[in-house]
Amino acid sequence: MSAAALVVVVGAGPAGIAATRHLRGQDGIRVVLVVPEGRAEYLAGTLAVATGDARADQYRACVELAGVDVVPARAEAIEPGMIRIEGSWLRPQAIIAAPGLALDLVGSDASDRIVGFWDPTGAEVAAPRIGAVERGVIDVVITSLPYRCPPAPYGLAMRLARRARRFDQPLRVRLFTPEEHPLAALGGTLGDTLLADCEEAGVDVRLGARIAPDAVAEGASGDATDRDGADLTIVIPRHRTSPLLADLVDSIGPLVPVDSRFATEMRGVFVVGDAAASPYPRAVDPAAWSGTVAAQAVLSELGFDRTPIPAAPAPDCFVDHGDGTYGRIRITYPDGPPPAGRPSISVDPPAPAQVNDFEAAYRSWLALRTDARTR
Ligand SMILES: Cc1cc2nc3c(=O)[nH]c(=O)nc-3n(C[C@H](O)[C@H](O)[C@H](O)COP(=O)(O)OP(=O)(O)OC[C@H]3O[C@@H](n4cnc5c(N)ncnc54)[C@H](O)[C@@H]3O)c2cc1C
Repeated sequence: MSAAALVVVVGAGPAGIAATRHLRGQDGIRVVLVVPEGRAEYLAGTLAVATGDARADQYRACVELAGVDVVPARAEAIEPGMIRIEGSWLRPQAIIAAPGLALDLVGSDASDRIVGFWDPTGAEVAAPRIGAVERGVIDVVITSLPYRCPPAPYGLAMRLARRARRFDQPLRVRLFTPEEHPLAALGGTLGDTLLADCEEAGVDVRLGARIAPDAVAEGASGDATDRDGADLTIVIPRHRTSPLLADLVDSIGPLVPVDSRFATEMRGVFVVGDAAASPYPRAVDPAAWSGTVAAQAVLSELGFDRTPIPAAPAPDCFVDHGDGTYGRIRITYPDGPPPAGRPSISVDPPAPAQVNDFEAAYRSWLALRTDARTR
């Protein structure tokens, strides 16, 4: 009997988990999933943690998947046909890398008035400093594009503004972005809605801000706008290529060029999720869809067949409006993938009931990572 083919998947975000789940259970395939510390983090929990309404460990899970070898480690290097984990080289038949995007560290200036984060772990460090500002001005600054979940910084600003209003605090929230219009890739109407929502929440949005990402990373205010007087600046840090994939990017941006199956120029190596240069937003469903597409391509290359996959993802983003209400943006691509196919967008207005959907989304995220516990 021949040995099972080995496929290594890197990362337990939506892309890596979708790839893993599509591959497992196939006779003749052994799946190894590489997960730092064996744990994954639910990124949409970031905003609640930042405002001190939740702890980061409420949005973390130990990954335990039946039929999968979960290796609690960080993949260290990828070369053609090889991957290094804890100093040892494995030689799998295929590698599906889903490490997401890395965040610039944001330094603190002398007055300690700048924090940077875009995940629950970073938000927990920043939360006491955010909570300490009870009057004056908080700026939310988007350093550069692309960043994960395009509407989320606007949600953070609205959450902060409504919280200040609830506690009767004389606090102004401003949002600075290099975008000329919010979420421009999805058409003007969605951005108009988001701007109107921000205005209603009392957030002052400044579009087209000239931000200097290097200066921000060093802890300076780092832009050429009139941003004087902020008591705290919250930075959405520049998103960079994972060091693991550094050899696979060109000079244009942080995303790895891939073909329609998410294969890279390195034979046997696929890159999926936020890290891949796909035309879809950096969001859960596009990430999971790309993981499934790549896993299907691997199965085909290894001579196995599997069920067909959906033709296009359907991104679905919660928009935090503060005070326990969420709106929702749902996108489909009925005319095929962008940029040729235009997105069809529906917006659910903010409602307290959506908080149940937000929690249900977290429970689904958890269930996708922990089914070994319940078997
Ligand atoms: C504040 C916020 C709110 C969001 N809200 C929504 C929303 O409402 N809807 C939506 O669709 N999307 C939302 N998103 C975006 C969504 O979370 C991301 O697009 C999605 O998680 C990307 O999936 P991924 O698998 O590509 O990467 P990630 O989720 O970033 O996962 C990558 C994983 O790889 C691991 N990793 C990194 N390097 C290595 C290595 N060397 N070895 C092993 N593992 C490694 C990381 O630890 C991580 O667990 C939100 C994001 C943020 C930050």
